[in-house]
Amino acid sequence: MRSFLAAAGCIAVAFSPIAYAQNVEIDSEQALEDLRALTTDEMDGRRTGTQGAADARTYIAERFFMAGLVAFGETFEQPFTYTPRRSDAELSGVNMVGFAGRDGGDAPVLVVTAHYDHLGNCGGQICNGADDNASGVAAMLAIAEVLRDNPPEHLVVFAALDAEENGLNGARALVANMPVDPDRVVLNINLDMLAINAENELPAAGAFHFPFLREHIDAVEVVSPTHIIQGYDSPEWGPNGDWTYSSDHAAFHDAGIPWIYYGVDFHEHYHQPTDEFDVVQQDFFLSNAQTVLNAVVYFDENLATIADELAVQRAANSDIEIPHVAEDGRFIKPGME
Ligand SMILES: [Zn+2]
Repeated sequence: MRSFLAAAGCIAVAFSPIAYAQNVEIDSEQALEDLRALTTDEMDGRRTGTQGAADARTYIAERFFMAGLVAFGETFEQPFTYTPRRSDAELSGVNMVGFAGRDGGDAPVLVVTAHYDHLGNCGGQICNGADDNASGVAAMLAIAEVLRDNPPEHLVVFAALDAEENGLNGARALVANMPVDPDRVVLNINLDMLAINAENELPAAGAFHFPFLREHIDAVEVVSPTHIIQGYDSPEWGPNGDWTYSSDHAAFHDAGIPWIYYGVDFHEHYHQPTDEFDVVQQDFFLSNAQTVLNAVVYFDENLATIADELAVQRAANSDIEIPHVAEDGRFIKPGME
């Protein structure tokens, strides 16, 4: 089935007007080293507000710098405050944000996100969060490094986000204070959990809400090593299968910005102390890192098309209320609110 789909996809691409020059590769050794480094016990589970999270930022800042990313201000750090769920306390977090490419006036912008925070301590044991989400951060670093030597056509913003685990707070802070004109942001690629799946399958969610993305996600898969499953983004997938609000892309969703969420299905190590470097499926992770690199390169090359297709969808929807998923996970049809 896999080879049939790949062959069918190749034919589609051969006759497709979509431009795609794909020939870049991640540095596998470095990607695994980044994944390992972010999951050492010294990082103490990278819980927001802890020394472990600060140590993770020091590591990410160094790697951002090595990858040639540029800060929007004097530093990659973008501090913010937030109030967590079921609390009225005001807490602080720090996003790490940099960009690749030249700033071209009002040209469209791509934002790549991956949260670096995790749970810290889980009942006396360190939750190192290797899959969740050292894997996404390591893949993001691998992508940034490739773009250093292969500059993108558009501005590509890289954001390692804080305070995801307690309510997507870093993502909401980023979207509320976007470092570029928010109207220019036409796509978010969110990476959260890229390293563990028994079937070696990686879901890509988002096309239910932004149907024009479907053929583009397929076009990336055809030239990529990982088998992608599109879905997990509508009520059809059941109460735990609609991931529209399950990670940082939700902040973009609420702002009406298209997103693609690459992340694996739940597994036995999810939010457990056993989510460690040792249980990472290294080949699967590297395959996924290469796949999401391909996605970033592809969407950079086709970002003007995405902007046009988004404009068409927005124009078509301007008069009608569209179905959406509420924050509590309920699916709201027009008129049901
Ligand atoms: Zn996560």
